Amino acid sequence: MTPHSSSRPILAGDPHFHYQNGVLHAEGVALDTLAAQLGTPLYVYSRAALRQAWQSYSDAIGSRPVLVCYGMKANSNLAVLKEFARLGAGFDIVSGGELKRVLAAGGDPSKVVFSGVGKQPWEIRDALLAGVKCFNAESQAELHCLSDVALSMGRRARVSLRVNPDVDAHTHPYISTGLKENKFGIAIESALDAYRLAASLPGLEVVGVDCHIGSQLTDISPYFDALEKLLDLIEQLDAAGISIQHLDLGGGLGIRYTDEIPPSPKALLDRVFDRLQARGMAHLHLILEPGRSLVGNAGVLLTTVQYLKHAEARNFAIVDAAMNDLLRPALYDAYHGLQPVSPRDGTPTEYDVVGPICESADWLARQRKLTLQAGDVLALESAGAYAMTMASNYNTRTRAAEVMVDGQRHYVVRERETLDDLLRGESTLP
Ligand SMILES: *Cc1c(COP(=O)(O)O)cnc(C)c1O
Repeated sequence: MTPHSSSRPILAGDPHFHYQNGVLHAEGVALDTLAAQLGTPLYVYSRAALRQAWQSYSDAIGSRPVLVCYGMKANSNLAVLKEFARLGAGFDIVSGGELKRVLAAGGDPSKVVFSGVGKQPWEIRDALLAGVKCFNAESQAELHCLSDVALSMGRRARVSLRVNPDVDAHTHPYISTGLKENKFGIAIESALDAYRLAASLPGLEVVGVDCHIGSQLTDISPYFDALEKLLDLIEQLDAAGISIQHLDLGGGLGIRYTDEIPPSPKALLDRVFDRLQARGMAHLHLILEPGRSLVGNAGVLLTTVQYLKHAEARNFAIVDAAMNDLLRPALYDAYHGLQPVSPRDGTPTEYDVVGPICESADWLARQRKLTLQAGDVLALESAGAYAMTMASNYNTRTRAAEVMVDGQRHYVVRERETLDDLLRGESTLP
């Protein structure tokens, strides 16, 4: 099929982004019109796509005791958080700033789990005041700090230990977190000792076991390598008189960027519950912390071609988005689908699509066959996760606006930064 066919979905396959009369749409909104109205670079999200991703989890769960805590570092825009809060989500936070966002979006703090290796006392205090469900503690030193802060407030902190099960998630090394050499979690061999410490500290109440083995997993077997080890640990804890109420398997389910066929939440959950049943642990409540799989393909990044440059070895399409808007290609060598919003006829040329930033790593897509002219608007796919949340002001570039499409309507859910925003707070010496 050519890009002109009327109902062709974009490569990453979310049907809410599709061509209609030769123009890429998000739901009922034409993206060329949106780019003309609001400028580029522009992140565009589909509300229906967010809902559908949520639905795939809620259908998979059915009536089983599972709490989905959205791993909000993937996309923490208040409108996205509000949408998930309305749908009943909890949130996995990694900072006091993320807690503030959850509360601002009307999220339920009793469904919040607090992850991260470096929680500071003020962040712990804020989370205890808000009444979060659980702290996922990552070291013995952190357990002492959690207990001290809780005691100073006359409270007890509910804790899980993030256990590092030493399994290979078979994903990019930068997003693999469950191996011995990673900074995350407590080695499974030391977990029993760490739990004994947690159980002995007066400011703590042990409630769970937690892990998060990596991101963009396209195979579920690493979850099950981890699961068996965690269930062994829960048996040992039980024998030691430490009873566990919930098991948190973290996030990590992959999405389609190009031709991946990621496992579904149902495939994961059915097998997890089979194993819980088989091992006599059906009483455990389950927590999942999906980020990318709830938002990744619910967004695109629109960018305009500034110049075409035909160098000796390569053809470059220089666009107005850059690594400060979409870091994943530079950081992980990641592939993002790329589609012209209004495809042209003509013989395609192979382009490297690059930004204006003064770094050779500032590329967004490589060796793509495209028919382009300056001024054309392109859509980078799968930009709903780890795109805006990783954006920076490098080269004193303003961060782009974010728009949520809902049917025929669109809402600007974050205004484009201004240059004055960027200079605010700075001063020179007298
Ligand atoms: C990043 C992260 C998640 C979300 O991961 P995804 O791969 O986006 O699903 C969940 N839990 C923790 C602890 C994380 O650090």
